[in-house]
Amino acid sequence: MADKNEQHKKRQQKVKSEVDARIAEAQTEQGVLQVITGNGKGKSTSGFGTVARCVGHGQKAAVVQFIKGLWECGERNLLAQVGVPFAVMETGFTWETQNREADTQAAQQTWQQAKVYLQDSSIDLVLLDELTYMITYDYLDLDEVLVALQNRPPMQSVIITGRGAHRRLTELADTVSEVRNVKHAFEAGIKARAGFDY
Ligand code: ATP
Ligand code: MG
Repeated sequence: MADKNEQHKKRQQKVKSEVDARIAEAQTEQGVLQVITGNGKGKSTSGFGTVARCVGHGQKAAVVQFIKGLWECGERNLLAQVGVPFAVMETGFTWETQNREADTQAAQQTWQQAKVYLQDSSIDLVLLDELTYMITYDYLDLDEVLVALQNRPPMQSVIITGRGAHRRLTELADTVSEVRNVKHAFEAGIKARAGFDY
């Protein structure tokens, strides 16, 4: 037993010194571009979690929702109360609408607001929720999005969520996470729940 404890201690000491060395090496102070993609559940909630983290440090965050849900959004109800600005696309889920022209116009309008946030150095974090679909459907010009992301204030972080992130988006990003679907309650017929799914 004592042997095992000693072994564990040694191993942890080694891990700690390796981690400490890597932490000391990370010297660059700059905002991070993160893409959260994949088919599993947890992309938007992760983005909103970081918004809460940011606000909790007294920093400023802004949220752009490129697909307005059928349901009200719990995070929005909460975060709007603490002054987080929201820009919401005024259409339903895009896979429900069949009017490309109206969708494009709505996406463009929402993007104009996103661009204002992406030029505002007082905003520490911008969440571009479900942006990936706007590029997949060609509602927004990929090059224009990439340029706006690249020209943002250097200390500003940006999180992009949505399935099927374009390769050029993930290439530009500093941090990319893919949420894999192992299983989802919906597949077993369990209804989406307020306070859990939205
Ligand atoms: P969440 O907002 O819960 O973090 P998400 O952003 O990863 O989910 P979206 O593709 O934006 O996922 O879908 C939003 C809604 O669809 C949520 O209500 C979520 O529970 C549901 N959903 C997410 N992934 C799946 C899945 N693999 N199968 C069925 N429903 C899903
Ligand atoms: Mg989502």
